[in-house]
This record gives sequence, C-alpha cells and structure tokens, in this order.
Amino acid sequence: MSQSKKIILSGMRPTGKLHLGHLVGALENWVSLQGEYQNYHLIADYHALTTNPDSSEIYKNSIDMLIDWLSAGLDPKKSPMFRQSRIKEHAELHLIFSMLITTSRLERNPTLKEQVRDLEMETMAYGHLGYPVLQAADILLYKGQVVPVGEDQMPHIEITREIARRFNALYAPAHPVFPEPEGKLTKFARLPGLDGRRMSKSIGNTILLSDSADEIKKKMKGAVTDPQKLRKGDPGHPDICLVFAYHNKFSPLEIGEIRTGCESGALGCVDCKMRCADKIATALEPHRERRSHYESHLDEVKAILHDGEEKAKSIAHQTMEEVHAAMKMG
Ligand code: SF4
Repeated sequence: MSQSKKIILSGMRPTGKLHLGHLVGALENWVSLQGEYQNYHLIADYHALTTNPDSSEIYKNSIDMLIDWLSAGLDPKKSPMFRQSRIKEHAELHLIFSMLITTSRLERNPTLKEQVRDLEMETMAYGHLGYPVLQAADILLYKGQVVPVGEDQMPHIEITREIARRFNALYAPAHPVFPEPEGKLTKFARLPGLDGRRMSKSIGNTILLSDSADEIKKKMKGAVTDPQKLRKGDPGHPDICLVFAYHNKFSPLEIGEIRTGCESGALGCVDCKMRCADKIATALEPHRERRSHYESHLDEVKAILHDGEEKAKSIAHQTMEEVHAAMKMG
C-alpha cells in the first residue's frame, strides 16, 4: 500500500452497462484522481442484493461494469478493481462493526429514510439498515482516507467515521487502526435523464456509454425540451431544457451560440438535438473503441479482475491481522 498518497476507496453496485450519469457523476472524477491518490475501486456486488436479492445477473453485470470502468480510463496498474464478494474480510469486518453501532443510530440515517420513501417499502431487510455498516467495512478495510461521494452519501461517511472512532477508542486507543475518512463531494452538474427525471437505467431514460452514434441520435430525438418551444422560430428557454444541460457538458465552446439560437428562435429543437447527439457520440467514440477491445478480450478483463482481487485480499488480510491484534482475541 502506498504510504505517500492518500487512499481513496470508491465503488458502485454492479448494474451492468453504465450510462452518461455514471461518467459525469463519478468515473471522470475517479480517472482524474488516479495520479494524485492511491485509488481502490470496489464492485459492490453484495450491496447489489439490498434492493434485489436475485443474484443471477450480478456476475455478468459486474463484468459489464468493469469493462466500462476500464474503457473510461481507469488504469488497473494504478487502481486495483475487485469484487466485494471475493474478499471475505468485508463480511467479517462488517460483523465486528455491527456490534459497534446501535440500530436507533442506523434508523436515523436520512439516506435510509429517503430509500424507504422512494421504494415505497413496507418492510425492510436488515441489509437496508446495515448498508452503511457494510460500507464502513468496505472503506476501512483498505484504510480509505477519502471517499468521493454525492451529497446523499455524506450521512454514510459520517457513520463510517463514527464506527472508526468507536473501534479505535475501544480497542486501539494508543495506536488507532482506522483513519476517519473524509467525504469528497463530487463536483458535477448532475445530468437529467432524457425525460427530465433522474437518470436511471430502470426508468429507461439514459444514454449508455456503449451506445452507438445511431442509438444516441434515436434516443436524443425523444428527449423532452422546453414545452413552450413548439417549432423553429419560437423563442426557447435553454435553462429549463435538458438538451441544453447536455450541451453544457458536451459542447462547451458552442454554448453561447446555442443559447442565443434557442432564445431567438433561430435554432430549432430537432437541429439542436442532433447537434447534441453528434457531440455526445464523438465524446464517447474512444470509450466505445476501448470497450470493443475489452469485449473481444474477456480473458484480459478477467485477469485484471483477478489481479485486483489478489491485491485487495493481501491488504484486507493485513488489516484484519491488525484488527485481531487490537481486539486481543488470540
Ligand atoms: S433549441 Fe435546444 S436548448 Fe432550446 S429548447 Fe430546443 S432543444 Fe432545448
């Protein structure tokens, strides 16, 4: 483990092929942090069971997601990538941590309350309640000091810090085993889905990183725009149009001209959408090329995963040795 660079732990639940929201909200940030920090990237396959216990697609989805990570520029030599389920110490540390936090504290977690409301859950599996405890184990097993997160995940980082503090105070007051990690807020303008709602694969309103130029055009044709701009010539309101939000990201040099064209009516929505689709397709072209390489070299992908898991196992083993020593359990 590098001593000079701060350690970052970040991960995603494997949901298969990734979309633009993942790229803008996480992957670009992860790639840019690669040199400055020592990154570890977790395929959170046990966490994926929280919302759907059907495990039949998880392996396939994990490989698909890993291919997108690699295609986005994550370098396996710098940033080990591994599955949570293959490193048994995640489960063991989760068990120990589960003794160090009360259920009432977990029930007060605002992210949990939001999930219960959004998913209209009448009953809750323990996995929902204990989600931040497993997440604390994920982070602290690698002694993560920095965790890139969105605003909604900040309460989980606070729980991780509390657990680290409690463990250190109880078992290792003189020589703390765990750092108290900091949440690093991801700075990005969240891209809306093509229907204006939150971008989500389950809603079907996404552009996938693997979509072809034709697929992107087809999807973009159906994107909602300013409802008051019915035809070319009508003045539009770019700030309430999601296509403009996409332009902001993918056509930064032309954004002033697009705004003027939209507001004056000179630019029609069909042309504007196709222009946007072209920009997105061009930006994703290198990603698609790398993806096609990995798709036809699956042995290479599996070897990268194996290598990442060996590195992760060795660190996890070392941390658990320190945990057992601190706990004086023999
Ligand atoms: S011209 Fe472009 S930015 Fe303006 S409303 Fe139409 S799609 Fe949106």
